[in-house]
Amino acid sequence: MTTAPDVLALQETDQALDRARARLTDVEGQMGESEELIAARQVVAEKQEVLTQLRSRLHDAEWSVDDARGKATEVEGKLYGGTIRNPKELSDLNTEFALLKAQVAKREDTLLGLLVEIEEGEAQLDNAQSSLAERDAIWQRDQASFLEEKARLEPEVADLDARRQDQLKTVDASSLRLYQLLRERHRGQAVAGVERGMCQGCRIALPISLLQKARSGVGLVQCVSCERILLVS
Ligand SMILES: [Zn+2]
Repeated sequence: MTTAPDVLALQETDQALDRARARLTDVEGQMGESEELIAARQVVAEKQEVLTQLRSRLHDAEWSVDDARGKATEVEGKLYGGTIRNPKELSDLNTEFALLKAQVAKREDTLLGLLVEIEEGEAQLDNAQSSLAERDAIWQRDQASFLEEKARLEPEVADLDARRQDQLKTVDASSLRLYQLLRERHRGQAVAGVERGMCQGCRIALPISLLQKARSGVGLVQCVSCERILLVS
């Protein structure tokens, strides 16, 4: 016949199982890449993309400055080479030279601006990479500890489950149904102790006859109020 201590033993195992399984689910949920790590990696990729574009623009800007400088040098050569003497032609060349010099200066400004932007972009990439490395180190450390905990919890759950199977042999079918019903109703606490004639589950004073029955240890006796299985020590 199922006794209150048998049900209590089962309850203790079930509570330990609930805790271990909940922690295992929690640990498994935290394994794999974290959103923070994914976000940090994305920031690095974005900064790299920005730099790639800036460097490509710098390349174009360098070409463009060289081109303007070449043209200016060519016109300057004509202007001061002494081969052209016609004043109108010289005046036109002078105007063209001034325009080209202005163009060179403008393009050089663009190039300098890009160099500054690239420097800033490199600093930002450095920061993003440091931040990623930091998060990655934390992540690696956490993963190692989660793996360790998982490796510890899995056999613990298996052991508790095996113990539960053993304990179930001492609990008959109707007692088990009652226990499960009460466990659901009272958040895992199907069994209540009795102290000074009071149910420790709901603090009600129990009738003497019920206490005597519980003390006899024959069958399961339930509290008249909360219906928990009473355990008289
Ligand atoms: Zn009670």
